[in-house]
This record gives sequence, C-alpha cells and structure tokens, in this order.
Amino acid sequence: MLDKQLLDILVCPSCRAKVELKERAEGDGEGIDGWLACTGCDLIYPIRNGIPVMLIDEAKKKTAEAAQ
Ligand SMILES: [Zn+2]
Repeated sequence: MLDKQLLDILVCPSCRAKVELKERAEGDGEGIDGWLACTGCDLIYPIRNGIPVMLIDEAKKKTAEAAQ
C-alpha cells in the first residue's frame, strides 16, 4: 500500500528521524490505513487513504496508543 522508496525518504517533522510502518490498529478512525512510527521520538503519523500525513498537529503519542 505504501511505496518502500517513499518510506525511505520520509522523516519525522519533529526530530527528523526515520519512520517505520505500523499496521492499522483496532479503533482507528475511518480512512486510516496505518501509521508511521518515528524511530526517534514517541510520535506516530496517520496514513489516510494511502497518503502519509507527516504533520505534528496530526500525530499521536505512541504511548497513548499503547494505553488503549
Ligand atoms: Zn520524531
């Protein structure tokens, strides 16, 4: 669903570390295909309709997700 090459060039806008693909989790909203988890900080970015949304405003805390 997501181009591996695209994944290689994407970096976290918060800390500029690389991101890795995560599966869609239960309870995710409509149109969420999965998440891109930052390897440097605790933020995860949604993939909406195949488009990675690399915006800090749209990101969630990885710890918050795990608590659900
Ligand atoms: Zn980061």
